[in-house]
Amino acid sequence: MDLVIQQSCPSCGAPIVLNETDRLIGCPYCGVKNYMIGGGACRFSLPDKVPDHIPREDLIYVPYLRFKGSIYYCQGHEVQHAVIDTTRLAIDGLRLPGSLGLRPQAMKIVPVNAEHLGRFVRQTIEPDTVFAQAIKLTALFAPEKKQQLHHRAFIGETLSRIYLPLYVKNDMLIDGVTHSEIGRLNSLIASSLENSTAFQKSWEPRFLSTLCPHCAAPMTGEADALVLHCPNCQRMWVERDGCFVPIDWQNIDGEDEACLAIPFWRITLGEESSAELRNFADFLRLTNQPVVVKKDDENLALSFWIPAFKLTPSLFLQTAHYLTVSQRRIPAGEANITGRSYPVNLPQQEAVQALKSVLAESALSKKRVLPLLASLKLTPQKITLVYLPFRDSGHDFIQRHTLVTLNSAALRFGRKL
Ligand SMILES: [Zn+2]
Ligand SMILES: [Zn+2]
Repeated sequence: MDLVIQQSCPSCGAPIVLNETDRLIGCPYCGVKNYMIGGGACRFSLPDKVPDHIPREDLIYVPYLRFKGSIYYCQGHEVQHAVIDTTRLAIDGLRLPGSLGLRPQAMKIVPVNAEHLGRFVRQTIEPDTVFAQAIKLTALFAPEKKQQLHHRAFIGETLSRIYLPLYVKNDMLIDGVTHSEIGRLNSLIASSLENSTAFQKSWEPRFLSTLCPHCAAPMTGEADALVLHCPNCQRMWVERDGCFVPIDWQNIDGEDEACLAIPFWRITLGEESSAELRNFADFLRLTNQPVVVKKDDENLALSFWIPAFKLTPSLFLQTAHYLTVSQRRIPAGEANITGRSYPVNLPQQEAVQALKSVLAESALSKKRVLPLLASLKLTPQKITLVYLPFRDSGHDFIQRHTLVTLNSAALRFGRKL
């Protein structure tokens, strides 16, 4: 479930309410659109309701790490997956609630800023440890599933820090949101709370202008879009290290105005990849597809077609599998789009992490292919964002060339992942 964030407009300061995954922030007051730079874990606080007589400087902010995303396990002879959505305490040695439970989702959280005058307790547990604990709580770790792990990937992740505000009253540590007593403030707790820092300016979110860096026309995109489009010069841009950079892209014409253009990352493997996967014919043979391998397949470079948007893990793998197998049927396109398109909300680097899981999913004989995963080298040579035309049949979107189908409810649900 998405968090709801109370942010102020970077241009005019007006209050705006955002979803956790929103990047393109349109202000209803001044009309300016800003793009929030990603990377690093954003810092938020639960909104405190601390009594007025407690000085704001005395507040103590305790860090929790939040993970959200899908995990894929190629284990034994199976490809398994789970969705993780957890918020866990990121300091050790203190008797504090281990998780924030549903609290961050039940209220509007606020980005940490200069108005947070208290002390921020330093995180002492690494994200990897918190993450490993979260995975152990999933069904993937049921005792009967102790087979050999060939490959693991975490895709579509969000990582953020959420602080729980606390204060001290009569030697008791009090929850600053619910006013419930957490425990007596003894010397041990006091000393670990001393490992803290004041708010730092570098924690604040940074924003980019949404005018096209090439032609200065306004770029377009939906709130959760990670790729912005300039309709004037037909360039597509992604944010990298705090700047917009243009990406290689194509749109394949649907020959029909009513088509929805849905984005995929086409990841073409390079020469450094393992010898078992040099071309499309190798892929068909390795995964044992029930098709006749043709001469042309030997000359066709192998591309994986990975959804550039979030879907539930099983649909994500299935869609990538079907499109990758049917790639011969997809014609070439060009960098020009005018009709309706679906936003990119899964970054290219996450799509690259999905390659081995998609290969495993595509294999008819998991027993043969899964043990190879650890040693296989899949090196991307070229990554292109390709919009494929899908016909809207009411319940489903059907890809014109391959007949790969996406359920409209599944697309809507994916936006919330
Ligand atoms: Zn504004
Ligand atoms: Zn432009």
